Amino acid sequence: MSAGAADPTPARRLTVLAGPTAVGKGTIAAYVRAHFPQVWLSVSMTTRKPRPGEVDGVHYHFVDEAEFDRLVEAGQFLEHATVHGAAQYGTPRGPVERALASGQLALLEIDLQGARQVKVTLPEALFVFLAPPSWEELGRRLVGRGTETAQERAVRLATAEREMAAQAEFDVVIVNDDVRRASEELVSWMRSGQAGRTG
Ligand code: 5GP
Repeated sequence: MSAGAADPTPARRLTVLAGPTAVGKGTIAAYVRAHFPQVWLSVSMTTRKPRPGEVDGVHYHFVDEAEFDRLVEAGQFLEHATVHGAAQYGTPRGPVERALASGQLALLEIDLQGARQVKVTLPEALFVFLAPPSWEELGRRLVGRGTETAQERAVRLATAEREMAAQAEFDVVIVNDDVRRASEELVSWMRSGQAGRTG
């Protein structure tokens, strides 16, 4: 299939990667960013504070609540959600539309609530669920990250349990047993998904 402005189904080039908390979605996204320059990665907007090493405009666009609310009002988000009852996150609509219109494969790394919103507005996108090798391993990763308090971890674990139940809503489940392997599987699905899906 040739990609271009005349293509009536640009949303087929869009892949949504979701999965439970701490499964490693961010690590997979970083690997794809570093190793697959042909994949365009959406940069989300968030009201949470940057962590050490995070760069504004690269990992996220960091904004305050007032600016985020203004953008919601203006219809500037493809999807947006409050994650872990804490901060707001959203996918800026314009850059995604431009990437798809220019023929690029585009990837959103977002939470389950956001994935469900995209499924309503762009159902022809490819929905990929990133799963942990086991529930025990997910628990270890959640504690191991060490950037949250015990109370925050408990909230995240409860969220993750609910999120694990959502696998059936997705087109593909990829097990994150190894970052490189899982990333390669993801990009392979993105390429074949674009070529192979007819309905
Ligand atoms: P973190 O704060 O650890 O970077 O991300 C917390 C959660 O927010 C992750 O599950 C991540 O996938 C999700 N997230 C990041 N960007 C977006 C976004 O634009 N929209 C939604 N709905 N979730 C996002």
